[in-house]
Amino acid sequence: MGFACPDLSAFARVEELGREVVGQRLEPDRAVLACRVVEPDQWCRRCGCEDVPRDTVTRPLAHEPLGWRPTTLLVTVRRYRCPGCGHVWSQDTTRAAEPRARLSRRGLRWALEGIVVQHLTMARVAEGLGVAWNTANDAVLAEGRRALIEDPDRFDGVKAIGVDEHVWRHTRRGEKYVTVIIDLTAVR
Ligand SMILES: [Zn+2]
Repeated sequence: MGFACPDLSAFARVEELGREVVGQRLEPDRAVLACRVVEPDQWCRRCGCEDVPRDTVTRPLAHEPLGWRPTTLLVTVRRYRCPGCGHVWSQDTTRAAEPRARLSRRGLRWALEGIVVQHLTMARVAEGLGVAWNTANDAVLAEGRRALIEDPDRFDGVKAIGVDEHVWRHTRRGEKYVTVIIDLTAVR
């Protein structure tokens, strides 16, 4: 097997989110990777004019930890205003994350595998992602609902299903258990 040139976008699996890494900031307890959209996306959705960037916004996404160190993607999203029709829009970010999500798709995948395959606690997953317990918990529950309930083709192509039961929350009245069912086809 040969070697390719070192490539942080590929190594950190940012490439598969349609992003490339353009900068890194290594702090003692976390790494921040500045990312931008790879595909040019400057054509007006409404009239097809080539648009000029109006401004940019940055969006932090918790990514999978690399070397036990939380990794945050700082994704730059360009916003446009069409000179032809005045339509205002932003670069598509759905390959990187669900709308309004705090976790990247890789970060979310890491969290699910951590819970179901590695039997990590939600506290450990949150620590790995560098986010609050509630943030990790909400993201995992939302993804479970999305994958299992909202997708009508959810069992197409599924060869392995993992079932796991967790103590989800310790309350004064006892422990609440939740059953997690996840398609492990890709994991195997
Ligand atoms: Zn337009």
